[in-house]
Amino acid sequence: MFEALKPLPQDPILQLMQTFREDPRPDKVDLGIGVYKDDAGNTPIMAAVHEAERRLLDGETTKSYVGPAGSAGFNSAMAELILGSDSPLIRDRRMSVVQAPGGCGALRMAAEFLRRCKPDTTVWVSTPTWANHLPLLGGAGLTIREYPYLNPKTLQVEFAAMLETLEGAEAGDVVLLHGCCHNPSGADLSLAQWQEVTTLIQRKGLLPFVDMAYQGLGEGLETDAAGLRHLAGEVPEMLIAASCSKNFGLYRERTGALALVSATATITSAANSQLLSIIRSHYSMPPAHGAAIVETVLGDDRLRARWQGELTAMCERILHLRHAFAEALAPVGDFDFIARQRGMFSFLRISPEQVGRLRKEHGIYMLDSSRVNMAGLNDRVLPGVAAAIGDVLR
Ligand code: PMP
Repeated sequence: MFEALKPLPQDPILQLMQTFREDPRPDKVDLGIGVYKDDAGNTPIMAAVHEAERRLLDGETTKSYVGPAGSAGFNSAMAELILGSDSPLIRDRRMSVVQAPGGCGALRMAAEFLRRCKPDTTVWVSTPTWANHLPLLGGAGLTIREYPYLNPKTLQVEFAAMLETLEGAEAGDVVLLHGCCHNPSGADLSLAQWQEVTTLIQRKGLLPFVDMAYQGLGEGLETDAAGLRHLAGEVPEMLIAASCSKNFGLYRERTGALALVSATATITSAANSQLLSIIRSHYSMPPAHGAAIVETVLGDDRLRARWQGELTAMCERILHLRHAFAEALAPVGDFDFIARQRGMFSFLRISPEQVGRLRKEHGIYMLDSSRVNMAGLNDRVLPGVAAAIGDVLR
């Protein structure tokens, strides 16, 4: 049976990582892979995470099953992190949270849940969006449609076009929004724009689905969640997929959460029971370790403060690099948008051919789309990278 299968080409990001690893030039620069890096180019384990792990190792008494929803302590800590501890949705039990294997696991379980609600559900995603949204949501059988989001010339949000297209969505359609730090563009909605989208969603009876993969890495934990919280306060139903990969640096531990909001506690409880049965039929239960770390960190004042301090430093490093990069590129062209955007990613708006030249002639690696990871920069390589970009643009 297997002999009929054709080999698939390697994922372009993994291919790029491999080419980078094999490049012998000592001054090569990796702006490709989407993980946070410190000034030395490492993706370190956060100190608060390390300490929580040490405590877990000493204090853990069992490895017995956790159940499809994962840890209740993790789930309520995540509810508060996402919505704020004073959220009426938490108080009124209109929101339920399940632990998920990373943001990807949460996205896929949300898609399976939507299909159970309505098999012919349509999900509207931004153009562009994170490439994995398509297989994660489309693979569950949902129909994907696109709304304009990023103007490719100005690299700003085409908000009027976005609203106009969403006017054409039908009641019950799902709108996927990036909570903050839009991947791949870095162009986020302002709070005023979140308010306008919320009004449209309500008026047309659409279901908002927010992917929150970078809370704390844009401007801070609270500011980054402001749009999502506004939306959550206004609509009867909503889905939120959250990832702890970036803000806790737990990438390989596969830690995330899926939150479900509905109009009443009774509906939420019934919907959550459906979600649990979907989880049971996919991976049965989420992995425990990463969520136990998050629960430990968020549940201890001292560890939490330490984690927040580390997260703020990461966020400030990215903001600093954004400003320094835009400044270094000023003589080369209009790159001001880099300083205005948020999170790790921005497009440089250069052609695949110019991206190829950067790789070949200068050892600077980025995706063919020209998406760069700001965290791959540092003050030492920044002038050289800006000069190389100037070179390929000439
Ligand atoms: N959503 C977006 C927009 C992302 O960029 C990512 C990670 N790259 C995720 C979700 C999910 O990440 P993970 O499954 O590693 O938690």
